[in-house]
Amino acid sequence: MLFDLNAFDSNASTRNYDVCICGAGPSGITIARILANAGKNVALFEGGGFELTEASQDLYHGKNIGLNNWDAIYNCRLRYFGGTSNHWGGRCSFFDSVDFEQRDYFGMPGWPDGSREEMFKHLAEACAIVDIPENIFDELPKSHWKSNNFRISERAFSPPTRFRTKYIDEIKHSEKIDLYLNANLTDVRLHDNLSSVRHFELKNYKNDTFQFTSKLFVLATGASENAKLLLNFDKQIPKGVGNQNDMVGRCFMEHFNVDFGNFIVEDHLMWEQGTVQFSPTEALIRKLKIGNAVIDFNPNLRTKDYGRLHALKQSAREYICQTETMKSFARKITELDCEGDGAITSLIEQTPNLNSRITLGTEKDVFGHRRVVLNWLPSKADDITIRTLGQEIAKDFARTKLARIQLRDFVLDENIPIKDYGHHCHQMGTTRMSINPKDGVVDFNQRVHGLENFYIAGSSVFPTGGGCNPTMTVLMTSLRLAKHLVSLVN
Ligand SMILES: Cc1cc2nc3c(=O)[nH]c(=O)nc-3n(C[C@H](O)[C@H](O)[C@H](O)COP(=O)(O)OP(=O)(O)OC[C@H]3O[C@@H](n4cnc5c(N)ncnc54)[C@H](O)[C@@H]3O)c2cc1C
Repeated sequence: MLFDLNAFDSNASTRNYDVCICGAGPSGITIARILANAGKNVALFEGGGFELTEASQDLYHGKNIGLNNWDAIYNCRLRYFGGTSNHWGGRCSFFDSVDFEQRDYFGMPGWPDGSREEMFKHLAEACAIVDIPENIFDELPKSHWKSNNFRISERAFSPPTRFRTKYIDEIKHSEKIDLYLNANLTDVRLHDNLSSVRHFELKNYKNDTFQFTSKLFVLATGASENAKLLLNFDKQIPKGVGNQNDMVGRCFMEHFNVDFGNFIVEDHLMWEQGTVQFSPTEALIRKLKIGNAVIDFNPNLRTKDYGRLHALKQSAREYICQTETMKSFARKITELDCEGDGAITSLIEQTPNLNSRITLGTEKDVFGHRRVVLNWLPSKADDITIRTLGQEIAKDFARTKLARIQLRDFVLDENIPIKDYGHHCHQMGTTRMSINPKDGVVDFNQRVHGLENFYIAGSSVFPTGGGCNPTMTVLMTSLRLAKHLVSLVN
């Protein structure tokens, strides 16, 4: 059933819900569907409607006092049904084994033991959700290139699946899911002994307030919003719900997108199909004590041009690329690429860092919640990862004659600061999973430490972020959580 909270009668009786879920992005929608298919009654609350509105999106405005002066949440996330899947890129890959290992040099505990096995039980289902075949990686062409230090990264492309388009009908017509649009979670009220949630408080855009109860409650509003909300839920616990150890909002992680420099192709076979991505081998990560990554080599230089214009382009390259002014002029009017134009970009794991965090400012949103202040910070370990990866891949490519790389100065000289860290709109870590409550906000089952019936879903629970796009991991953890919740509700 579908309800619009803007037009909802507060006296209307609702069914008894087994689970209330807040946030209808990939995570919340996945959990709702699994519970409904198992016969459980679900209320799914979405702060936006079926389309983007400024009233909803405005709630994502915040302040950035750390790296990159960009309004990270407002510009990256989408606050309506389907969430950020409404504009995600669809690039899918999975954590490596090393990503689940405890890496002491990260300074914080990683994923609990057994996470990998638990998560990968849900691989096939996660692939089906985003419309990629389960065995897609087996079918990728294998490369002739061999190295002990780097490997070609495996990834698949979802169409990309838009959760709004794919699941709207199923959810609208579900007998088990009640979807409430324009339903903004504004408070989580606990029982008097503060050990479990009593109800969710929601508001529509007319500022009417509604209460919904159920046996279990799930927060799935995205990595920054999950933290913002918990910190704002301070009526009964002054530091915020789940924040007894001052961990909510800490360890905010992104994937760095560092521009390493340029390259000239030597082994043309490798770049026949265009961009190639490389990752450090697990052995190299362990040996050099660095984070994981994907390094993209985009060969603007297509040395083999086919077709009628081949001769013309080749001569243009030979003559025009000799002088800087002619080079830039030629690039504007033709598709001409000069030698050395190949760009090296990246997706690099950030170590969990207590000082990289979300806190609340003084400015308030329309519901009286204090807005997010993001202090995204790299650590010394991150700089080591970045420089080491740049140097190692340049050495490896020179040794194997794959390409000649011209690195930016900061990669070679640690006295030159890394200025442009870049990001990928992959926000993670703000309610991290931990065995010891002192190190995080949720336990292995994504239950908020200290609360009996309150769970968190999405990339905010990642203790470490790996060196790949996050959504497959979001889906696998959400599937695991959903099945756990099914087992808890009779
Ligand atoms: C530009 C871009 C490109 C990306 N490309 C890729 C990619 O190629 N591959 C990949 O793996 N990942 C990619 N991602 C990341 C991907 O979009 C996220 O991993 C995914 O959307 C996370 O799903 P989620 O459900 O946890 O959060 P979201 O998608 O953010 O959904 C959260 C939902 O909660 C709702 N909500 C928020 N606050 C409230 C509230 N108070 N009350 C009620 N509802 C609320 C929102 O409206 C939204 O529907 C990309 C992200 C961006 C921004």
